[in-house]
Parts: sequence; C-alpha cells; structure tokens
Amino acid sequence: MNPLICPVCKNALIEAISSYRCEQNHVFDKARSGYVNLLLPNRKHSKEPGDNKEMVKNREAFLTKGYYTKISDLLNQEIARASSRDMNILDVGCGNGYYLRRLKQNLNKPSDCWGVDISKEAINLAAKKQTISIGLLAI
Ligand SMILES: [Zn+2]
Repeated sequence: MNPLICPVCKNALIEAISSYRCEQNHVFDKARSGYVNLLLPNRKHSKEPGDNKEMVKNREAFLTKGYYTKISDLLNQEIARASSRDMNILDVGCGNGYYLRRLKQNLNKPSDCWGVDISKEAINLAAKKQTISIGLLAI
C-alpha cells in the first residue's frame, strides 16, 4: 500500500510510471534512481539541504567497514521480534539507507521499506542501492 500524501493538498498520491500525482494534479516526478522529491520549493531553506556529496560518500565508506554492524543487527532483531505481519517501515533521516538496507535483507516477511531524508545526495544513493521501496526527499 502506498501511504504517500501530497505535500500541497494532503490528498493521496497515486503512483504512475514516472511520477506520483494527486487528484488535484499536483505532480512529483521520480528521479532516475527511484526517489521522489516531495520537498516544496518554499520549504527548502538552503540550496543544498542536508549532507552534501562528499559527506555522503564518506559516511558510506565508513559504514561499509562494519563498525555499526552490531547496532544494525540488534535493531533488526528487535524489529523482527516486534512484528507479526507485513508492515510498512519508515526510516526518517535514512541517509544512504544503510540500516534500512540491512533490515530489508534480514526480514523474513515482505515489507515495504520507505526512507526519508533531506539530503538529495543521500536519498539518491539509497535509491540507487535499492534499499527502499521509494526514497523521499521531504519534510
Ligand atoms: Zn495535491
């Protein structure tokens, strides 16, 4: 199920091939990597909000070395124990999608994983790595 709502009018967003659209025809195009930008221009308070490309690259390099693997494993165990059926999972501030990607790989149940981040570079990387059902640049 698609839980997205239009940031302009709050109606449900319907997924099309290359965009999301509400019944009032507010359209949000999907990026090639798969994320959609729901951050309205009047809510964007800097040219490049969130982590920049270098920060995202460095964070990815650090996380792939495994320093936070135990934290991620514990999180995955708790979520698996707490859930009993299909669920939507939202990672607010998902960054490059490291935790969500590992969670998705470890879940025995089908779940929709959603990631939200203010950084275009981070959400783009998360979407490219297919961490998430959809990446959102929003809030
Ligand atoms: Zn709308």
